[in-house]
Amino acid sequence: MVKLFIPGPVDVSEESFKAMSEQMIGHRSKNYAALHGEVVPKLQQLMYTKNRVFIGTSSATGWMEGAVRNCVKKKCLNLVCGAFSERWHTITRDNGKQCEKLEVEWGKAIKPEMVEEKLKTGEFDSVTLVHNETSTGVMNPVKEISEVVRKHDGVLLFVDTVSSMGGAKIPVDELGIDVCLFGTQKDLALPPGLAFCSVSEQAFERAKTVENRGAYFDFIDFDKYAQKNNTPSTPNVSLIRGVNHQLGKWLAEGLDKRYEKHAKMAERVREWGKKNFALFPEPGYESQTLSVMTNTRNISVEDLNTKLKAKGVMIGNGYGKIKEKTFRIAHMGETTLDDINALLAMIDEILGL
Ligand SMILES: *Cc1c(COP(=O)(O)O)cnc(C)c1O
Repeated sequence: MVKLFIPGPVDVSEESFKAMSEQMIGHRSKNYAALHGEVVPKLQQLMYTKNRVFIGTSSATGWMEGAVRNCVKKKCLNLVCGAFSERWHTITRDNGKQCEKLEVEWGKAIKPEMVEEKLKTGEFDSVTLVHNETSTGVMNPVKEISEVVRKHDGVLLFVDTVSSMGGAKIPVDELGIDVCLFGTQKDLALPPGLAFCSVSEQAFERAKTVENRGAYFDFIDFDKYAQKNNTPSTPNVSLIRGVNHQLGKWLAEGLDKRYEKHAKMAERVREWGKKNFALFPEPGYESQTLSVMTNTRNISVEDLNTKLKAKGVMIGNGYGKIKEKTFRIAHMGETTLDDINALLAMIDEILGL
């Protein structure tokens, strides 16, 4: 078995596997409704929201499509700073919605002034933002950006928190995020295949007026079923049990403790990265759940990973167009500072640092 330090999927604990191994139940049964009714409030706690939270059986990308499909009426501003935020632009366009990109160089963060500049044209009714851009290791200033969006009446904010939810505090209601989405295989430390999406009252009202919302991710349909603690189509019951287990554990331990743990791991990797390589993200915007290093020593990341795998661990190579130029170390899920220290010691030894 190879321990994963890649930014998703991440390792799943034996306990979580056990929680997911129970026999199937019918999804229209009382037992399922009880499970659904137990999980949704836990998700709301994790997200610090009173909004509706829908459980969808897909990867997180499904809800990216759902958000734009249900809520973009006029024109959407896609904030792009890497591969996943670019994906949201492609999805918006391919669903036939009017949209425009506001793009910064990879490694840079989106700044609130840039968003203000665009929104004051009055052209837009929605904005997509990737909180933690997993391809570059940039954590965008979601608080400052959401403040700008909130100043513009009738503009909705959709935020992808796929690689940060659970590892960094994202208070959805305080920030006024209209649609916030993430999935199971990143910081939640569960297998892939289930994703969540919170929907504000404003976003829900918008959806009611949008035509062609699609079928699989229709917010109105999801709401109808959610009122009965159910989903429109057969959900991934096993994963929902996993979420129930995982969130039950985290909430009992206290979420703040998790954020602290992640901050410490991030600090450790950054310190190591600065000493031996360089950090790829612009200073001040480094992610709390994964660190991206610039490959200043021109090492072969593939070679390093082969040697690491022989020792039972694996890191992430660069993503997309910065594949060779960077490498990534995730500090997500159940990873501990001890795990990180052991990993860095192995890299030091292999590279003779
Ligand atoms: C992994 C990731 C996605 C894609 O999630 P899927 O669950 O594979 O659809 C989207 N956005 C970000 C920021 C990610 O890290």
